Amino acid sequence: MGQDCLVLSISEAALVRTVLIHGPLSRAALMERLGFAPASLTRLARPLLEAGILVAESPGGRRPVGRPAQRLDISHELGTVLGVKITSSSVDAVVTDMRASVLRSAVRSLADTRVESVVGQIAEMAHQLDAAGAIGVGVGLGGVVRDGVVIHAPFLDWYGVPLGRMLRDTLKLPVSVENDVITLSEAERWFGLRRGVPGFSVVAVGEGVGHSLVAHGQVVRSPDSGAGLSDHLILDPGGPTCEHHHRGCVSVLLTTTAIARQVSQAVGRALTYEESLELARSGDLRARQVIDRSGRALGRFIALIANVTSQTQFVLAGEGGALFHDAHHQVQLAIAGARGRWTSPLDVQVDDSGYQVWARGAAAVAIQRFVDQLVERGLPGPKG
Ligand SMILES: [Zn+2]
Repeated sequence: MGQDCLVLSISEAALVRTVLIHGPLSRAALMERLGFAPASLTRLARPLLEAGILVAESPGGRRPVGRPAQRLDISHELGTVLGVKITSSSVDAVVTDMRASVLRSAVRSLADTRVESVVGQIAEMAHQLDAAGAIGVGVGLGGVVRDGVVIHAPFLDWYGVPLGRMLRDTLKLPVSVENDVITLSEAERWFGLRRGVPGFSVVAVGEGVGHSLVAHGQVVRSPDSGAGLSDHLILDPGGPTCEHHHRGCVSVLLTTTAIARQVSQAVGRALTYEESLELARSGDLRARQVIDRSGRALGRFIALIANVTSQTQFVLAGEGGALFHDAHHQVQLAIAGARGRWTSPLDVQVDDSGYQVWARGAAAVAIQRFVDQLVERGLPGPKG
């Protein structure tokens, strides 16, 4: 593992990112993607191979540098990453490889949501998952995050919490803290369902509702990302009423708690969201009405985002994926009604990879930060 500090050029960083996202890739495929001439690719790849950032392999095993059939890949010896998702009731943590594939994972319930307790919990989980040597830590949570400071996280009742600094001091590792829908979007863009797609939207529906936009190959970030600015958009003026007296807003038609409450009221007994969907599936008309109404609202919400952002590709994540499947016809009818006859069809992919999708998303942000650091500061020397 070579130099103490190899600072990457923009072209070298582009090569690393392309190999990370799309690799392993043959030299021919890399030249086509990046528009490099053969000599340039060889020149750019050499220091990366010598520094142990990339490795060169061919199907028959490792060969000397320079063979056309040879494929370049990211070196998994670079290290692992810790991804953490904090919810109001639990901490999910994963240790991943450099492509955000989960190697080890752990879930713990939160006894209380005081910041010190949560930081302590994360430190214990990092120890449990053997993450001491990780190249970085990514943390995602619902709320507004700026420069590692949680400005406002309603589910945790946190205001102005310097979580990034606290975790950095505790874990002695680089830490990135972001809004969870932003981390999820980064993961979908680099390693997920929309890998390499330059423009798409992510819609996350669960206990809360969020969405984010990827345009020109970048996640659009705003100081207000995660502020819940679409929570009270009206989707159905004839719908039920939220706590702010809006009729048929996003929060009252799409969140899991609101849907469960409405089905529970309709049938006269307390049901969870999953039980509510199950009851509708079993043919209960009262449950079916609620689920169909929420399905139409989901279709309208997706179409509304498509109409104002001009994006047609979507990833839908969270528990709302089940609503999308269960009320598919209603979702599609609502989309069609809001899009007009001559518009492009919307392509909605449901990310149903489960709850770990969030912690993986956080890990993806730490991986991106590591690559960015290679350009700004270079590859750190051997530890110790
Ligand atoms: Zn409302």
